Amino acid sequence: MGKASRDKRDIYYRKAKEEGWRARSAFKLLQIDEEFNIFEGVKRVVDLCAAPGSWSQVLSRKLYLPAKLSPDAREGDLPLIVAIDLQPMAPIEGVIQVQGDITNARTAEVVIRHFDGCKADLVVCDGAPDVTGLHDMDEFVQSQLILAGLTIVTHVLKEGGKFIAKIFRGKDTSLLYCQLKLFFPIVTFAKPKSSRNSSIEAFAVCENYSPPEGFNPKDLHHLLEKIGSPSGVDDLDCSSGWLEGPNKVYIPFLACGDLSGYDSDRSYPLPKAPDGTYRSLDPVQPPIAPPYKRALELKKASCHGVQELEKLSLDS
Ligand code: SAM
Repeated sequence: MGKASRDKRDIYYRKAKEEGWRARSAFKLLQIDEEFNIFEGVKRVVDLCAAPGSWSQVLSRKLYLPAKLSPDAREGDLPLIVAIDLQPMAPIEGVIQVQGDITNARTAEVVIRHFDGCKADLVVCDGAPDVTGLHDMDEFVQSQLILAGLTIVTHVLKEGGKFIAKIFRGKDTSLLYCQLKLFFPIVTFAKPKSSRNSSIEAFAVCENYSPPEGFNPKDLHHLLEKIGSPSGVDDLDCSSGWLEGPNKVYIPFLACGDLSGYDSDRSYPLPKAPDGTYRSLDPVQPPIAPPYKRALELKKASCHGVQELEKLSLDS
């Protein structure tokens, strides 16, 4: 598909380029903020699975830049934003980057060190594995990323803080909801207008972090497994009390963003210049080392001949 036809088919892709966002995902975080006011009073944030960086850009523009430009800005008092991803990303003003795997305990330690004993007000996680199209499998891998995010949350988030995490809706959604409810009294599953209806993606908005009394982060997995056991859900107050059987967990679900605004599943006409032409913009910042880079190199080499392809494979 050419850039212009994607511009027509995907209004948020086009708007992202016009407004200088690295990815259309920026609008999802902005629309979640419109509904939940997630940035209010926030001074320290962790952005998990941040590349190519549009959520980090939102954090920089909403938190760091206004504080830096304020007349009473003081160097040591500026908001702290720490972004982590497996992939490297181009720099963003006010954002500290950590390249690492969020499922690895060492990555969590690096993040904690950046906070120097202080805690974060907000943790966001837009992590997604390479989607296979097998919904059960994708949902499972996605839930592992959320649990890795939750592990980091239990180490770095202050009491009363917020956690926003991408989820894939599926058969284990109620289990995930109950697991999150163990730590957050308010959990809402939100679908921003910029997230396509055809996608099973949604976002868990978890408010007012309150771990169980005497909770030790080392016990997290044991605790979560307990909820996963057949009787576990009964231990929690996430059942509505009036629903029965598989429906007994009632999950608050909310569409957010301007509901009369752009529809991510619709095509929009392209704006024309006075001469009647349309010029598609280039992406703001393409990923600097995407996982598919090697595949592209191999594909290019295969056009030049099998020998070169073999050489590349041997070199890798
Ligand atoms: N929020 C980003 C933005 O606005 O630009 C987009 C995030 S993208 C949808 C998902 C990211 O998750 C990818 O960059 C991928 O590298 C990252 N990811 C997946 N598994 C990860 C892991 N185990 N540790 C760290 N990052 C991971």
